[in-house]
Amino acid sequence: MIGGSRLIAHLDLDAFYATVELQRRPELKGLPVVVSGSGPRAVVTTASYEARKFGVGSAMPTSRALRLCPDAVLVPPDFEAYRAVSRKVMDLVRGTVDLVEVLGLDEAYLDLSGMHSPKAAMRRLIHQIRTQTGMQASVGIGPNKLVAKVASDAEKPAGFVLLTQAEACARFAGHPPSLVPGIGDKTAEKLERLGIRTLAELAATPDDLLASQFGERQGPWLRSRARFEASSHVTPVRVAVSESRESTFDVDLASIEEQEAALARLAEKLCAGLAKHERTGRTIAIKVRLDDWTTITRARTVPAATNEVDVVRRVALELLREYAPPRPVRLLGVRMGSFAGETEADGPAAPAGQLALEV
Ligand SMILES: [Mg+2]
Repeated sequence: MIGGSRLIAHLDLDAFYATVELQRRPELKGLPVVVSGSGPRAVVTTASYEARKFGVGSAMPTSRALRLCPDAVLVPPDFEAYRAVSRKVMDLVRGTVDLVEVLGLDEAYLDLSGMHSPKAAMRRLIHQIRTQTGMQASVGIGPNKLVAKVASDAEKPAGFVLLTQAEACARFAGHPPSLVPGIGDKTAEKLERLGIRTLAELAATPDDLLASQFGERQGPWLRSRARFEASSHVTPVRVAVSESRESTFDVDLASIEEQEAALARLAEKLCAGLAKHERTGRTIAIKVRLDDWTTITRARTVPAATNEVDVVRRVALELLREYAPPRPVRLLGVRMGSFAGETEADGPAAPAGQLALEV
């Protein structure tokens, strides 16, 4: 719809895993429920809104969550159950909208362009999802993916926010740049050192200043994000730019033999996943986190795209030996990027160790 008006929705289920668990165990309703693995280094996958009142949030170490909320009910994740509910939700979504880009088990972009009464249709869809699956959805609607994504998050839970690009700029003007997906902590810190603390300030910063600080590509891109300029292209299949496996160890690995064995296992798992998705890539990277949280990545590009375990394991182990971790290792990861026949989405190249955010 070139030149016409695109209308994109971002639909995001509220506290998805926790809601599935509450549905299966109604006796937990009203209690602070935290979905988390076990073990000394487990992290919170999802917290119910009751648990969030105590300051518990996703990706927080579970030990910390339990200090904040000692009465939290810990529930181990059951991804089979989440996938089953997700399938039902996405079937309902596809029954309403033809063009859907599923981003994960609990979120999707929907292209509403040209739809009759899109707002009413979204309200009906939310109602259907609630009555037929018990899940609560938040929806953001805007002219592009970025506006839709930030809008869906603005009034969670059960949010319903429709914004034009100018309204999004005005509404979030005083928010920190990190509100916008794709602007991470490091970039936000650097912006702050430059005296840029809000999205409005970032939007008003000249491109050449940003380019001198962040590079010709990322500098102007940051400013475009602050102005809520982004792609409105909804692609039914999301293009992955990399695939990785990583593992945090219950006990730090001190010897190179243990580290090599762990990394070799991760390489084998990664190759099995790549083979299953019929993917090959050329850039093999490792990630190492030491016991003092120093985190490094090292990458090497091989001449021909591969998913052969012998090649990936050999390169990963070479990278590990060359780095020779100076302290015990807490986490190891291995990643394959530069997939054959696939190109990266819009936005600047993703920094090593991170997936490009495609919003
Ligand atoms: Mg969600």
